[in-house]
Amino acid sequence: MVVASFTMAELSYEQQTQDLRARATVDGLTGLLNRAAFLDLAEDELRRLTRTRTTASLILADLDHFKSINDEYGHSAGDAALQAFAEACTSTVRSTDLVGRYGGEEFIILLPGVTQERAGQIASDISARLQESASPVIPRLPTSSYGIASTAPGRVDLDAMIASADAALYRAKTLGRDRSVLAGSLKEEPA
Ligand code: GH3
Ligand code: MG
Ligand code: MG
Repeated sequence: MVVASFTMAELSYEQQTQDLRARATVDGLTGLLNRAAFLDLAEDELRRLTRTRTTASLILADLDHFKSINDEYGHSAGDAALQAFAEACTSTVRSTDLVGRYGGEEFIILLPGVTQERAGQIASDISARLQESASPVIPRLPTSSYGIASTAPGRVDLDAMIASADAALYRAKTLGRDRSVLAGSLKEEPA
């Protein structure tokens, strides 16, 4: 009896720690990697890509005028829109790509072996897929802006990539939103 209850306590402790570990890496609302987990995994992946001299692209996405979704339809509609965007991302990219929730309505994607131009196409596919996910819960889906940075083979620095993608994202916002801007060239791509 005593042994049995001890075992059950052990099991539930196991479950609890497993649950805690999962919560430490997964964003509770969207099921994507949280920021810290994304950064950890992306660092590892980029080190591997440097060794194999493989190029990579990084997409930073920020939903446009997202505050107005919350204001017009309520916070739970906003939450549903964030989940729809996460789903649009994961259903567009490969299972080996990394997708994270970077902040409130900001998302981050690492695409190993993908050129900047191809990443622009992927961003455009994500936007198209998001607009297809209309539901009674979210009467109007937001658009998204994207900043896209890439690395030359053998030169990978996550912080530098994020900074470049962030500058490009800022440019996408000032150019009118609902579009991608490629860092470096700061070339605009239709959304
Ligand atoms: P911009 O096009 O310039 O990005 O405008 P914006 O309204 O998207 O940006 P702003 O930073 O003004 O607002 C972001 C909003 O995202 C405000 C915040 O309430 C909302 N938000 C952040 N996290 C969540 C969340 O988990 N759920 C919901 N429903 N809203 C969130
Ligand atoms: Mg934002
Ligand atoms: Mg925003």
